[in-house]
Amino acid sequence: MSLQSAFGRDNKAKTGARIAVARRPLVAGNWKMNGLSASIAELDHMLRGFDAALSGKLDLLICPPFTLIEEFSATAKGSKLMIGGQDCHLNASGPHTGDISAEMLADSGAQAVIVGHSERRVDHGESDALVRSKAEAAFRAGLIAIVCIGEAQAERQAGRTLEVVASQLKGSIPAAAKAEWLVIAYEPIWAIGSGVTPTPADVAEVHALIRKELSARFGKDLGEAVRILYGGSVKPDNAAALLKVENVDGALVGGASLKAADFLAIARAAA
Ligand code: PEP
Repeated sequence: MSLQSAFGRDNKAKTGARIAVARRPLVAGNWKMNGLSASIAELDHMLRGFDAALSGKLDLLICPPFTLIEEFSATAKGSKLMIGGQDCHLNASGPHTGDISAEMLADSGAQAVIVGHSERRVDHGESDALVRSKAEAAFRAGLIAIVCIGEAQAERQAGRTLEVVASQLKGSIPAAAKAEWLVIAYEPIWAIGSGVTPTPADVAEVHALIRKELSARFGKDLGEAVRILYGGSVKPDNAAALLKVENVDGALVGGASLKAADFLAIARAAA
């Protein structure tokens, strides 16, 4: 992905003066462990809807299971719709039975990879340090890394959301991060697959914190340019309210990304 695509437009006015960066929205679909070869029909539908009306306005990404990446990438060739992975190993190759490297994803046609999803952090005990190494692997292979962070329900109830998110962000982002290859997804764990979402005010508070922390660590240019997605029970009927929140630059969508009609409705809300 070019800088132009990530940022929507050049971040310098013709006069050379700095202007606020218009971040191009990104809507990413995480299919998790769903999808068989027959699912290509949904991808076809998405491609038609995206390329006809939306591809000039936002970036769209589908992350199917590993088994479908090559076929989906071949089908999406020539379209602006991107295909990505849901995880990668930190190494490029080696004795890691069942794992897939970022280089293998890229070789299969992927352009992005999700790292640190809460289901990986919880089911596979992935730490911030491991997630950071996976993000580094993504950059090494030329993939966009979508780094997921978010608090558990007990942490929110204990009033620890901002502390937890700031700590995950600090631990999970590589020191050499570049805005064009980095996307942050704020996904409160309790909102994933539950049908419950934080209020727009809660989302705004966390996204503002993430933006502030990125600027403090990497400087304002990178801090302002990185896209921050909201994820957790985004559906066609709540997408517009969530996507208009300040510092929400798109969505990471699980269940509602499986059906082209729902996913395209969310994409339209982001455009
Ligand atoms: C996710 O798992 O990343 C996710 C956001 O899931 P859902 O949209 O189904 O809550």
